Amino acid sequence: RIIMGIESSCDETGVGLVAAHDDGTVELLADEVASSVEQHARFGGVVPEIASRAHLEAMVPTTRRAFDAAGLSMSDVDAVAVTAGPGLAGALLVGVSAAKAYAAALDVPLYGVNHLAGHIAVDALQHGPLPTPCLALLVSGGHTQLLRVDDIAGAITEIGSTVDDAAGEAYDKVARLLDLPYPGGPPIDKAARDGDPHAIAFPRGMTGPRDAPFDFSFSGLKTAVARWVESAQGRGEQVPVADVAASFQEAVADVLTAKAVRAATEAGIGTLVVSGGVAANSRLSALARERCAEAGIELRIPRPRLCTDNGAMIAALGAHVAAAGHKPSSLDLSANPGLPVDTVLV
Ligand code: ATP
Ligand code: MG
Ligand code: FE
Repeated sequence: RIIMGIESSCDETGVGLVAAHDDGTVELLADEVASSVEQHARFGGVVPEIASRAHLEAMVPTTRRAFDAAGLSMSDVDAVAVTAGPGLAGALLVGVSAAKAYAAALDVPLYGVNHLAGHIAVDALQHGPLPTPCLALLVSGGHTQLLRVDDIAGAITEIGSTVDDAAGEAYDKVARLLDLPYPGGPPIDKAARDGDPHAIAFPRGMTGPRDAPFDFSFSGLKTAVARWVESAQGRGEQVPVADVAASFQEAVADVLTAKAVRAATEAGIGTLVVSGGVAANSRLSALARERCAEAGIELRIPRPRLCTDNGAMIAALGAHVAAAGHKPSSLDLSANPGLPVDTVLV
């Protein structure tokens, strides 16, 4: 069975094609992404109107490229899956409308699915079927969550989340303070390579004895970096960008991995999946590898291309939902910008 996946929740227009095999495995056939990230760069963050407009322009060409890449025609599609939420309302609407049109025209089932569950399901394309239960650390520009997955097609529970900024958002804000370009993750990761991660002791948010054990906070960290940079500048010193980047990155990776490993250990869960754009971070993956090995936890991190927003992750999730025999979505499905993480299928 061939599943088409459409993603348009933020600034990436993604169309993916996946084959769902009888043995429960999913195979990546095509993964085409058009990003409007450059159009947002000068604003330092995603501008919703620009994103919607870009999705509208990119949807048909991206779809065409996906079918060309897979050597398939549209009549080969057995089901269409689309991100129904969470995300930007206008952006989601473009993908949902396209998916409805394709599903109706091809007379195949439509599955409106959860973007966050897609970030986890995508791992099956690279590492094979997800063992359940597993724990997922989802770290992206808009989300930072610890999720318990008992069934990727239906049973996902939030164990903790950020109480303020997402991890990726913190990267983007700190990059701005350091005069590094948007999005901030890649340039900070690169700058940190030449820095000392222990040069500055930045705070680890939400790690006090009375704090929720699996929640996160990154806004205090961002403020601490801002203060540190300002005071260095106030003294007329040149800001040691590499040291600041490395020390900030260490604080983020330390808290994320410590809490994820502790949550898995306490729940007796043997597998941790780390996904979302920030999973591409070199220090986060190195530290996760180290700490998971110590704790005897299997670590799965999809390759960076699969970690950031794409259509293949939605196709992979659609394949699991369809295989589980769930009832397809109605053709009057609407996008839900605030779709909760425990609603996998709309
Ligand atoms: P969401 O999935 O929450 O709706 P999104 O589209 O912004 O939001 P992604 O595309 O998954 O999320 O990830 C983008 C984020 O990942 C950006 O904040 C970016 O700075 C961050 N990022 C990318 N590469 C790295 C890296 N190497 N290190 C740290 N952060 C990174
Ligand atoms: Mg993005
Ligand atoms: Fe995402």
